[in-house]
Amino acid sequence: ISANTDANDMLFTETQLNAMEGDSEKYEFQAEVNRLMDIVINSLYKNKEIFLRELISNASDALDKIRFKSIADKSALEGEPNMEVRISFDRESRTVTIADTGVGMTKVELIENLGTVAKSGTTNFMEQLGGEGNEDLSMIGQFGVGFYSIYLVSDRVTVASKSNDDENQHVWTSMADGSFAVGKDPRGNTLGRGTEITMYLKDDASEFLDDYKLESMVKKYSEFITFPIYLRKTVA
Ligand code: ADP
Ligand code: MG
Repeated sequence: ISANTDANDMLFTETQLNAMEGDSEKYEFQAEVNRLMDIVINSLYKNKEIFLRELISNASDALDKIRFKSIADKSALEGEPNMEVRISFDRESRTVTIADTGVGMTKVELIENLGTVAKSGTTNFMEQLGGEGNEDLSMIGQFGVGFYSIYLVSDRVTVASKSNDDENQHVWTSMADGSFAVGKDPRGNTLGRGTEITMYLKDDASEFLDDYKLESMVKKYSEFITFPIYLRKTVA
């Protein structure tokens, strides 16, 4: 973990966000995924910070995959030589962003991996939860649906991704209203390779717009991660 102040995220403008949600191709979440998202969004589960554990774990998996590919094919790293994770936040737009230079996702993979293809663990996970908003969501990652924990803290999420197997960078976006949209990134190919997830925080998740809070979470959840994780701090 180290401070990194020169990175400059390119957040979507409100116009770009609305256009993506309005004009991009819309997809319905698979029914079980939709039920799970409802549970996550309405949950009173207190330990919301586990979302970062899940996102760091996914970033690390994606980096493992590109590292593995690069053993057989050195050119796999051409689009982006670094293998790392970068986390930043912006108080004005109330966003937290986590970007990795892992394997990334093609348009088809965004659609399949983040909502349309059923995962066997979804039903099992919901069955073992208690009910009535007091569910213990800490095990979510072990059931293969950790990504959706982001809706503990956000009500709008964008996932921009660039894979070597797709000429264009695409964006998945959902306000957790039963559907998601996927389209070409209006900003162009801003990522050499990898995935950039931006969470628009709910009103009650402001605690995550804080250097110290994020730093302590990153330290806690990066213990077994072998790739560098940079946290962009506020310049004092
Ligand atoms: P799991 O990690 O157990 O497979 P998740 O719900 O956390 O389940 O993630 C779902 C899938 O979405 C992953 O299997 C992966 O294919 C894809 N995915 C999520 N995050 C990333 C990422 N940062 N880079 C590439 N693919 C990702
Ligand atoms: Mg995961």
